Amino acid sequence: MKVYYDKDADLEMLKGRTVAILGYGNQGRAQGMNMRDSGVDVIVGNIRDESFEMAVSDGFPTMSIAEAAQAGDILCILLPDEVQQAAFNNDIAPNLRPHKALDFAHGYSIRYGLISPPKDVDVIMVAPRMIGVGVRDRYLAGSGALAFVAVELDASGLAWPLTMALAKAIGATRAGALASTFAEETELDHFMEQLVWPTIFGLFTQSFEFLRAKGYHEEAILLELYASGEACEIVQRMAEVGLFRQTAFHSQTSQYGTLSRAPLALPKDFSAKMAKALDVIRGGEFSREWEAERQAGYPEFIRLREEALTHRINEVEDRLREIIRD
Ligand code: NDP
Repeated sequence: MKVYYDKDADLEMLKGRTVAILGYGNQGRAQGMNMRDSGVDVIVGNIRDESFEMAVSDGFPTMSIAEAAQAGDILCILLPDEVQQAAFNNDIAPNLRPHKALDFAHGYSIRYGLISPPKDVDVIMVAPRMIGVGVRDRYLAGSGALAFVAVELDASGLAWPLTMALAKAIGATRAGALASTFAEETELDHFMEQLVWPTIFGLFTQSFEFLRAKGYHEEAILLELYASGEACEIVQRMAEVGLFRQTAFHSQTSQYGTLSRAPLALPKDFSAKMAKALDVIRGGEFSREWEAERQAGYPEFIRLREEALTHRINEVEDRLREIIRD
């Protein structure tokens, strides 16, 4: 995979151009502040809400999404994915002109055709592999958050150096900007969200229920599973030294237990499950389901969230918060 760093990017590409951050939320605030600190001319477009007020108090020229789309040369679409299509059709598309650029932090809207930009604008992506607060904190600390970068449409002939410049302005090229595509970024992200994380969630909840039925203390089970913070430490070491190399930080008994059982842990037909999950992602079945859910007012999503937040695990976590002293 080709990786780009600060030396490969030139902020001069952004000189004399206005970047409009459309959506001052998790990513919008972090990216907008980083860009401003990198010397970029940044304005913000947002609906009239608390985020709008925050952008004003953070000192950004702040206006409606349509006004910012009109005033900006490079439009960073940092709205929630499920509202991007409507915002694009109503507020952004009418204000596009040749040689403007659309920058995304996630490939979803383009990958699934929810947004079809005209052929005379650049369509690019700088997608941090990090929550917004992390993008900002790392920038301030002098490091940066890794990002996937891609060019979907190079109308200007300069879309790639522009992508690099934006990646540099938010700090991504300090850590590494990895050349990808809208499809790869979206599909991998969804594979994590729809297969890997659900497997871990299912494993934790079912382990909790199973071990509780076997008479173990509920608090002890959650501490072992994740609540002690040890799991975070392990994943952190995986990122730093490697999935298998980090086993050296554990006892030999632990190492043997894990390494000898890992190949047997998942059911034999798990690869069929992975194939099905990827088909649903690639074929667009999930994005259609999610769009139908949005149009219906999110009934299933609301039900699922309520079910999760009333699971017994929440009560045990409340008790743990009482017990554990920092
Ligand atoms: P947020 O949920 O933080 O929302 C962004 C902004 O859009 C907020 O100001 C929000 O207002 C506003 N907004 C909410 N609803 C509407 C609406 N109906 N019309 C117009 N504006 C609205 O978005 P994120 O920053 O989480 O995500 C932005 C993009 O970045 C997405 O493409 C996402 O996939 C991508 N991304 C996000 C990451 C993350 O850290 N969350 C990580 C990497 C990529 P309010 O605050 O009032 O809700």
